[in-house]
Amino acid sequence: MSLADMRSLYQAVVLDHAAHPRHKGELSDYNAASTVHNPSCGDTIKLFLQIDQDKITAASFTGSGCTISQASASLLTEAVIGKTTAQCLAMAKAFSNLATGQEADQKSIALLGDSAIMTTVMQFPARIKCATISWWALDEAIIKMKGHPND
Ligand code: ZN
Repeated sequence: MSLADMRSLYQAVVLDHAAHPRHKGELSDYNAASTVHNPSCGDTIKLFLQIDQDKITAASFTGSGCTISQASASLLTEAVIGKTTAQCLAMAKAFSNLATGQEADQKSIALLGDSAIMTTVMQFPARIKCATISWWALDEAIIKMKGHPND
Protein backbone atom coordinates (compact mmCIF):
# COMPACT_ATOMS: atom_id res chain seq x y z
CA MET A 1 0.00 0.00 0.00
CA SER A 2 1.37 3.43 -0.89
CA LEU A 3 1.75 6.14 1.72
CA ALA A 4 -1.06 8.13 0.08
CA ASP A 5 -3.34 5.06 0.25
CA MET A 6 -2.43 4.53 3.90
CA ARG A 7 -3.28 8.16 4.65
CA SER A 8 -6.68 8.04 3.00
CA LEU A 9 -7.51 4.69 4.65
CA TYR A 10 -6.44 6.18 7.99
CA GLN A 11 -8.70 9.20 7.48
CA ALA A 12 -11.65 7.04 6.43
CA VAL A 13 -11.24 4.71 9.45
CA VAL A 14 -10.86 7.62 11.89
CA LEU A 15 -13.94 9.39 10.57
CA ASP A 16 -16.03 6.19 10.57
CA HIS A 17 -15.13 5.19 14.14
CA ALA A 18 -15.40 8.73 15.50
CA ALA A 19 -18.86 9.14 13.97
CA HIS A 20 -20.02 5.61 14.87
CA PRO A 21 -18.02 4.49 17.91
CA ARG A 22 -18.18 0.73 18.63
CA HIS A 23 -18.78 -0.44 22.19
CA LYS A 24 -19.19 3.07 23.65
CA GLY A 25 -20.77 3.21 27.10
CA GLU A 26 -20.10 1.61 30.46
CA LEU A 27 -20.32 -2.20 30.62
CA SER A 28 -23.00 -3.43 33.01
CA ASP A 29 -20.56 -6.10 34.22
CA TYR A 30 -16.84 -5.52 34.29
CA ASN A 31 -13.94 -6.54 36.50
CA ALA A 32 -11.18 -4.31 35.14
CA ALA A 33 -11.19 -0.62 34.28
CA SER A 34 -8.81 2.28 33.92
CA THR A 35 -8.99 5.96 33.04
CA VAL A 36 -6.24 7.78 31.17
CA HIS A 37 -6.13 11.49 30.46
CA ASN A 38 -4.08 13.24 27.80
CA PRO A 39 -3.55 16.80 29.07
CA SER A 40 -1.92 18.01 25.83
CA CYS A 41 -5.19 17.52 23.91
CA GLY A 42 -7.80 17.19 26.66
CA ASP A 43 -8.72 13.59 25.79
CA THR A 44 -10.03 11.26 28.50
CA ILE A 45 -10.64 7.57 27.91
CA LYS A 46 -12.12 5.20 30.47
CA LEU A 47 -11.84 1.59 29.42
CA PHE A 48 -13.99 -1.23 30.83
CA LEU A 49 -13.09 -4.91 30.51
CA GLN A 50 -14.75 -8.13 31.49
CA ILE A 51 -12.02 -10.73 31.90
CA ASP A 52 -13.05 -14.36 32.30
CA GLN A 53 -10.43 -17.11 32.61
CA ASP A 54 -7.77 -14.74 31.34
CA LYS A 55 -9.75 -13.83 28.21
CA ILE A 56 -11.42 -10.52 27.35
CA THR A 57 -15.09 -11.38 26.93
CA ALA A 58 -16.35 -7.78 26.72
CA ALA A 59 -14.80 -4.34 26.31
CA SER A 60 -16.18 -0.84 26.13
CA PHE A 61 -15.13 2.76 26.68
CA THR A 62 -16.47 6.13 27.74
CA GLY A 63 -14.83 9.51 27.59
CA SER A 64 -14.45 12.50 25.39
CA GLY A 65 -11.83 14.10 23.27
CA CYS A 66 -10.65 14.51 19.72
CA THR A 67 -11.72 12.25 16.85
CA ILE A 68 -8.39 10.38 16.93
CA SER A 69 -8.71 9.44 20.62
CA GLN A 70 -12.31 8.31 20.17
CA ALA A 71 -11.61 6.34 16.99
CA SER A 72 -8.59 4.64 18.51
CA ALA A 73 -10.56 3.56 21.61
CA SER A 74 -13.36 2.26 19.40
CA LEU A 75 -10.91 0.23 17.29
CA LEU A 76 -9.24 -1.05 20.46
CA THR A 77 -12.47 -2.49 21.85
CA GLU A 78 -13.02 -4.39 18.60
CA ALA A 79 -9.44 -5.68 18.59
CA VAL A 80 -9.24 -6.96 22.17
CA ILE A 81 -12.49 -8.94 22.53
CA GLY A 82 -11.63 -12.64 22.48
CA LYS A 83 -7.93 -12.06 23.16
CA THR A 84 -6.04 -13.27 26.23
CA THR A 85 -4.62 -10.75 28.70
CA ALA A 86 -1.07 -11.68 27.58
CA GLN A 87 -2.02 -11.01 23.96
CA CYS A 88 -3.54 -7.65 24.98
CA LEU A 89 -0.38 -6.59 26.79
CA ALA A 90 1.67 -7.54 23.71
CA MET A 91 -0.75 -5.57 21.51
CA ALA A 92 -0.51 -2.50 23.74
CA LYS A 93 3.28 -2.63 23.57
CA ALA A 94 3.29 -3.16 19.79
CA PHE A 95 0.86 -0.27 19.27
CA SER A 96 2.89 2.08 21.43
CA ASN A 97 6.11 1.04 19.65
CA LEU A 98 4.67 1.48 16.15
CA ALA A 99 3.06 4.81 17.01
CA THR A 100 6.43 6.14 18.11
CA GLY A 101 8.25 4.81 15.06
CA GLN A 102 9.84 1.79 16.73
CA GLU A 103 9.89 -1.86 15.71
CA ALA A 104 7.28 -4.38 16.81
CA ASP A 105 7.08 -8.11 16.22
CA GLN A 106 4.88 -9.31 13.35
CA LYS A 107 2.78 -11.56 15.58
CA SER A 108 1.69 -8.65 17.75
CA ILE A 109 1.08 -6.43 14.72
CA ALA A 110 -1.19 -9.14 13.28
CA LEU A 111 -3.16 -9.23 16.56
CA LEU A 112 -3.82 -5.48 16.28
CA GLY A 113 -5.86 -6.06 13.11
CA ASP A 114 -7.63 -2.92 11.85
CA SER A 115 -6.48 -0.92 14.87
CA ALA A 116 -2.92 -1.02 13.49
CA ILE A 117 -3.96 1.66 10.99
CA MET A 118 -4.03 4.14 13.91
CA THR A 119 -0.26 3.82 14.24
CA THR A 120 -0.05 5.88 11.02
CA VAL A 121 -0.45 8.71 13.55
CA MET A 122 3.35 8.66 13.95
CA GLN A 123 3.34 11.01 10.94
CA PHE A 124 1.63 13.58 13.18
CA PRO A 125 3.76 13.67 16.34
CA ALA A 126 1.38 15.99 18.22
CA ARG A 127 -1.36 13.37 17.92
CA ILE A 128 0.56 10.24 18.99
CA LYS A 129 -0.75 10.45 22.56
CA CYS A 130 -4.33 10.82 21.29
CA ALA A 131 -4.10 7.45 19.55
CA THR A 132 -2.13 5.72 22.28
CA ILE A 133 -3.97 6.63 25.53
CA SER A 134 -6.63 3.94 25.12
CA TRP A 135 -3.84 1.34 24.83
CA TRP A 136 -2.24 2.70 28.00
CA ALA A 137 -5.62 2.35 29.70
CA LEU A 138 -5.80 -1.28 28.49
CA ASP A 139 -2.34 -2.03 29.85
CA GLU A 140 -3.13 -0.38 33.18
CA ALA A 141 -6.55 -2.04 33.58
CA ILE A 142 -5.09 -5.53 33.03
CA ILE A 143 -2.09 -4.99 35.29
CA LYS A 144 -4.31 -3.56 38.07
CA MET A 145 -6.68 -6.50 37.83
CA LYS A 146 -4.05 -9.23 37.67
CA GLY A 147 -1.60 -7.63 40.06
CA HIS A 148 1.88 -6.67 38.99
CA PRO A 149 4.03 -9.72 38.10
CA ASN A 150 6.63 -8.57 40.65
CA ASP A 151 4.15 -8.16 43.50
ZN1 ZN B 1 -6.54 14.18 21.10
